[in-house]
Amino acid sequence: SKGDEIFKALLKSANKHGVKDDVQIIKTGCFGFCEKGPIVKVLPEEAFYVEVKPEDAEEIIAETIVKGRLVDRLIYKDIKNDGDVDSDKIKFYQKQYRVVLRNCGLINPEDIEEYIARDGYLALEKCLTGELTPDDVINHLKVSGLRGRGGAGFPTWLKWNFSKNVEADQKYVVCNADEGDPGAYMDRSTCEGDPHSIIEAMTIAGYTCGADTGYIYIRAEYPLAIERLNIAIKQAEDAGLLGKNILGSDFSFTLEIRLGAGAFVCGEETALLASIEGKRGMPVPKPPFPAVKGLWGKPSIINNVETFANIPVILTKGGQWFKSIGTEGSSGTKVFALTGQIENSGLVEVPMGTTLRDIVFDIGGGIKNGRKFKAVQTGGPSGGVITDQFLDTPIDFDTLTAIGSMMGSGGMIVMSEDDCIVDVTKFYLEFCVEESCGKCSPCRIGTKKMHEILEKITSGKGDMADIKKLKDIGQAMKTASLCGLGQTAANPVLSTLKYFEDEYLEHIQEGK
Ligand code: SF4
Repeated sequence: SKGDEIFKALLKSANKHGVKDDVQIIKTGCFGFCEKGPIVKVLPEEAFYVEVKPEDAEEIIAETIVKGRLVDRLIYKDIKNDGDVDSDKIKFYQKQYRVVLRNCGLINPEDIEEYIARDGYLALEKCLTGELTPDDVINHLKVSGLRGRGGAGFPTWLKWNFSKNVEADQKYVVCNADEGDPGAYMDRSTCEGDPHSIIEAMTIAGYTCGADTGYIYIRAEYPLAIERLNIAIKQAEDAGLLGKNILGSDFSFTLEIRLGAGAFVCGEETALLASIEGKRGMPVPKPPFPAVKGLWGKPSIINNVETFANIPVILTKGGQWFKSIGTEGSSGTKVFALTGQIENSGLVEVPMGTTLRDIVFDIGGGIKNGRKFKAVQTGGPSGGVITDQFLDTPIDFDTLTAIGSMMGSGGMIVMSEDDCIVDVTKFYLEFCVEESCGKCSPCRIGTKKMHEILEKITSGKGDMADIKKLKDIGQAMKTASLCGLGQTAANPVLSTLKYFEDEYLEHIQEGK
């Protein structure tokens, strides 16, 4: 990758200038500001260099490291204009609040010492020295109000408590790192930038519920995340923070990685568990819920990467601290992957309750090429569109559902006045047709039928009866599909029909 090439070029130049031992050159996780990457940050000067190329490495070392001077042409313009070089002053970061991404772009994810230096493994130590009992952990999570970040928003403490209270000879902890929503990459970045936070949280989950084995289910298309998780697991084992008798206690916990083959449905927890067991990833009806009867029929806690990443910091700072961030019903922050027709695409972490206007216009810098905002699709293929009338609605789990969309895993695709909403909707349906596992007919046939109708409409051959058919099939899929994929696959259609029916009619009436 370009980052690797820049890293090697920086090392080479540091060697050439004889400053190799005076400067520490490290790879970090993602800074979030993807639009301007690759980024090189120089401390303590706080030089924030953007769109760096390997050939810039020589100048960075010669000027900034050797002479202490800034390379003007590489400084991000926001800070260059007012002469300030502090990256905290960049507008992209000003309204962000980093809890999940607290270490991404800051520490070397391949060095456990750097994680420990930022209070890493402190929460686990508190657990294993008796300062935090399993009940204390549950209580902190309850007070914090943390809800699962994988999409459904289920209270995390409740899930953990179910599993804790079930008597069983074997229990498991599972991390869902399958992240399949188009446009979403926050879990990949967290695994790449801060893998120890996942390991620590999963170990604490094992301690709390009485599980001694954990699995991280991650899609095989994430090679760097897998590599860094493997390095982190090995380091934690070597440091006595994972494995037998952790920190000299009688608690043991082992962790393994399982690779997914990229099926979207394997993000659904029962399908994911089947896949870990070596079976075809297909959902089964719930209840029983995995917290009671999960992997190989044993109680299993499943949370996604973002949920786990919150937990160590909740336990070190306290549930009340977390509760003070966000809204009444949705505490904490949410990471969004901001993509589409936006000036500053990237990973954005904001307190729950931040408005879409703040995200799109302040952090995101507005619509590309000065075009007009049309809508934002949240929740990927399970979500819906948010139109300009909701730009000032504080965004959390409940408000998004109330306006006909959903949080999902946090993909946020921005559309401009130039985008055809029916085409975008057709893309999501096409995705669901591909990804439906085919087990139940409302989803298997419904997604295909809806996609055919959208094809017909966008090729100018649709008629008014098609609108009604779309609505009817969508409602039937919502009520009768077995799992979340089918129950939500019609959301993009129903939501765009609600707010942009005129665009559908335009295709039909103008035959285009
Ligand atoms: Fe499979 Fe779709 Fe039915 Fe889910 S709703 S079980 S993905 S066919």
